[in-house]
Amino acid sequence: MVEGTNMGDSDSDIRVAIIGGGAGGMSAASRIKALKPEWIVSVFEATSFVSHAPCGIPYVVEGISETSKLMYYPPSVFIEKRGIDLRMNTRVIDVSKGSLQYIENGEEKEMEWDYLVFGTGASPIIPPIEGKDLEGIFTVDLPPDAERINSASKDVSEVVIVGSGYIGLEMAEAFSARGKNVTVIEMLPHPLPNFDEDIAEVVKAEMEKKVNLRLNEKVQAFEGKDKVEKVVTDKGEYKAELVIVATGVKPNVELAEKLGVKLGETGAIWTDRKMRTSMENVYAAGDCAETYHMITGKRVWNPLAPPGNKMGYVAGVNIAGGDIEFPGVLGTQITKFHELEIAKTGFSEKEAKENGFEVKTALIKAQTRVHYYPGGRETQIKVVADKNTNRILGAQIVGYDSVLARVDTMAAAIQAGFTTKDLFFADLAYAPPFAPTWEPLVVAARVLKF
Ligand SMILES: Cc1cc2nc3c(=O)[nH]c(=O)nc-3n(C[C@H](O)[C@H](O)[C@H](O)COP(=O)(O)OP(=O)(O)OC[C@H]3O[C@@H](n4cnc5c(N)ncnc54)[C@H](O)[C@@H]3O)c2cc1C
Repeated sequence: MVEGTNMGDSDSDIRVAIIGGGAGGMSAASRIKALKPEWIVSVFEATSFVSHAPCGIPYVVEGISETSKLMYYPPSVFIEKRGIDLRMNTRVIDVSKGSLQYIENGEEKEMEWDYLVFGTGASPIIPPIEGKDLEGIFTVDLPPDAERINSASKDVSEVVIVGSGYIGLEMAEAFSARGKNVTVIEMLPHPLPNFDEDIAEVVKAEMEKKVNLRLNEKVQAFEGKDKVEKVVTDKGEYKAELVIVATGVKPNVELAEKLGVKLGETGAIWTDRKMRTSMENVYAAGDCAETYHMITGKRVWNPLAPPGNKMGYVAGVNIAGGDIEFPGVLGTQITKFHELEIAKTGFSEKEAKENGFEVKTALIKAQTRVHYYPGGRETQIKVVADKNTNRILGAQIVGYDSVLARVDTMAAAIQAGFTTKDLFFADLAYAPPFAPTWEPLVVAARVLKF
């Protein structure tokens, strides 16, 4: 059965097909319907979750939230209030110019489209390790994983996490908060590979208080009879009743490749600043799409939720006849391990050098409030600047208080092209309960000189 027609005579015949009901897909769908209520906007979502929050999975596993809450809005809001033709539990299996094939209620169907949006997201990378298919080994991807991991972890005490990126870190927090014995295995010399070692040292020290952190160690095999029982590395063996593999993600580009859409140098779908792909009337948004770095203008892949939402918004506006550009990303991110808040924006020192900058850096320790007001906590801030122009290139912040406010200040400053002098003279707020008189970011600017 073929539904829909291509580019009809009237506006009401226009049909937009969106593959994926996550941040990218649903932002695009909602924007198009807001601007062109008469258009038919169909969203195909393979799972029973839409407009979901994979970011909440670690907190469901930790026991401080519930899987059912990992949807920002229930499907009825999109269907009844926004008029979106939302098809849950429906997987798109093929796509060609002007039509796509999907499985709905076990039946293969076809629909024609005038505009197509890829919002297919990213999936965990599972390295080809022996025994990777044993029962008890999980990846963390979409909300249904929270349920699977929760029911498998009830009576388990030995948990091994492979990888110490932010997802590995958050899952390590979740299980250690539940009293499990957690071993984290990382093949690099420090946790959080995209941070500099001096800042990652603080994270390492915090992790070592709560988990068995094994650095410079490579997993070679998962072993067990029916289910996983141990993890074997190049340096030892660890008892494991449950394993989380968190070794990175890759963009879901298979359908785009089939259609003949160009992939970029990062492996994600090539898009321009309007979120158009290389093919007319085909757009991409979110984790499946490539974008630009705000400092260098180079093409980068940055699978995070806020850019995904904004890319979807931009794609939606442009499809509906508007003209708007997505300016790119700085890779601003924040996470935490128990009490320690950890954030980064722009380049680390290592990344800045890899991008050809001659850099200078300031690493400062400061209190988050004036000395006479109770409750101040230590924070450490590393700011990276261009040695030749004094332009701020990046900041990494760890501490127990106000890390979000400081990283966001730095993100806005970098986006605005601030130099160390601009940062020094930034008119930032002060009162004893909130900050020291010499704001730590301003101190970092002074240390960097201008
Ligand atoms: C554990 C975890 C924690 C995270 N924490 C953070 C955080 O704290 N901050 C942050 O910024 N980001 C975080 N992220 C990343 C963030 O979740 C993603 O950047 C965001 O979800 C991207 O949205 P998206 O729409 O591009 O992709 P997704 O959310 O992955 O949605 C893609 C959707 O497409 C569907 N789909 C794919 N192929 C098909 C098909 N063929 N047919 C039908 N449907 C299909 C999938 O089922 C999925 O629902 C986290 C991710 C994880 C896994």
